[in-house]
Amino acid sequence: MKRFAIVGGGIAGLAAAYELEKARTRGADIDWQLYEASDRLGGIVSTTRIDTPEGRFVLEDGPDGWVTEKPWARELAVELGLADQIIPCNEDRRRTLILIDGKLQPMPPRMRMMVPEDLTTLEGSTLFTDAARAAYAAELANAATLKAAAPTQDESVASFVLRHFGEEVLNKIGAPLLSGVFGGDVHKLSVRSVMPAFVAMEQEHGSLIASLQAKAADRGPRPPQPAFTTLRNGMGVLAEAIVAKLPAERVHLNRSALSIKRERGMWCLRTSTEVKNGKSKRHFNHVLLATPADVTRRLLEPHAPNSAALIPSDASSAVLVAMAFPAAQAASITIPEGFGFLVPQSPAGSVISTEAQRSGETCSSTGDRFQLLAATFVEQKYPGRVPPGARILRAFFSGPTADALSTEPDPTIAAAAHDQLSTILGPLPAIDPALTTVRRWPRSLPQYEVGHLDRLAQLDDLITTLGGLTLLGNAYRGVGVPDLIRGSRAAVRTLLS
Ligand SMILES: Cc1cc2nc3c(=O)[nH]c(=O)nc-3n(C[C@H](O)[C@H](O)[C@H](O)COP(=O)(O)OP(=O)(O)OC[C@H]3O[C@@H](n4cnc5c(N)ncnc54)[C@H](O)[C@@H]3O)c2cc1C
Repeated sequence: MKRFAIVGGGIAGLAAAYELEKARTRGADIDWQLYEASDRLGGIVSTTRIDTPEGRFVLEDGPDGWVTEKPWARELAVELGLADQIIPCNEDRRRTLILIDGKLQPMPPRMRMMVPEDLTTLEGSTLFTDAARAAYAAELANAATLKAAAPTQDESVASFVLRHFGEEVLNKIGAPLLSGVFGGDVHKLSVRSVMPAFVAMEQEHGSLIASLQAKAADRGPRPPQPAFTTLRNGMGVLAEAIVAKLPAERVHLNRSALSIKRERGMWCLRTSTEVKNGKSKRHFNHVLLATPADVTRRLLEPHAPNSAALIPSDASSAVLVAMAFPAAQAASITIPEGFGFLVPQSPAGSVISTEAQRSGETCSSTGDRFQLLAATFVEQKYPGRVPPGARILRAFFSGPTADALSTEPDPTIAAAAHDQLSTILGPLPAIDPALTTVRRWPRSLPQYEVGHLDRLAQLDDLITTLGGLTLLGNAYRGVGVPDLIRGSRAAVRTLLS
């Protein structure tokens, strides 16, 4: 019998456990055990549901959906019997706003990240200056030159966007959009790791705009599919449905992996126990480490000191505040059409307008000290998240701001979010703590810096040499829920084949 240990019960560890359990129930001669440090499964994937006399509020603690183009979360959801829970975003209301000089400006329609499909959509846009519009037109005109000069090596996301569209597009939308997903610094992030589709588009067409136009021509008159997909009762349902398929006796909560050690051709996994200061040891043929990058680095370092430099060392933190307003309060809130807004982390994106800054007038007690990165107008993005007429506003702080905020108590964090949102959107009703969630995700988004793919290749070699180990989770080949599901399921299938 082959024995497997999974360490870490986030979505990556759960997807691996699900695949192992499927094989076991089909008769494979295997045993598996899952060890999770906390008292719950799902990791960052978690939903808080609040039932009120008016109806249910669905507040996401982490991811609020997935990119529809990536089929692997949907496939798993269908397999888990959740087909009737799968819902698309409100595609007809999709619009992203950018905070420029204290005002929310809509991004032009039909853009794929910072790339427009149709240059005419830029004409009436108040977001861009004529210089940015000219840079877009030049990108299309220079397709052949861009193709001939396409780099063969990795580069930063900033350098890639600058080559195509220049500084204004990078600062106004490129950096905030990328930071919204990866929480990082575009001058360090690897374009080949975080935007591989765009690199492929450049290699084929030179111009990214030309590439989108070619795709649109192939698609014909069919409307594009909704950009995002989620589950009716929240993303937490995905984790909960996997857990329901796993025998409880194989899942060990409050059991933190302390070390792994090679002994007689097996891995000896030492974990904490539920008894204070207790420790337990168990031997496995194979250990799947689905732990956050910092934990994986610590567990691996004694066996492969070189691995430390190969696993991303920088990671961005996130702090999320979701505040729900029942219909009676929500009626006084005016929100522009769209899914939400992004705040460029530069003077242009300051919450306080430059005019107000000049006059020394600041609009909130926290001022720009805790500057938002993004906010979501939840009920405009997804159906069924609130009772009729109600609203949820979700504020997202990232990077150093999130690190600074996360040491503050919940009411201070919620007040910072409320202050920033009130400054941008206009006065908001007071927060009801019973309808507000504050979630801290420290160092949760590993930064794939330039050269990440080369380091991964070296890490793969090192892990193969050690034998009996697999690395899963968001430090390697994508941070999105679909990527993690795909990675974990594929890894287990390979192990069992
Ligand atoms: C705020 C936020 C919003 C996001 N939004 C989206 C989105 O909308 N769509 C999307 O696709 N992706 C989104 N992501 C990314 C995605 O949610 C994460 O990358 C993913 O959930 C990470 O899953 P994981 O299993 O790799 O790690 P985690 O969820 O971090 O799970 C790791 C688990 O390991 C456990 N652990 C830690 N140490 C030990 C130990 N020593 N022993 C045992 N267990 C241990 C932890 O307790 C945890 O449960 C978002 C991320 C964040 C932070």
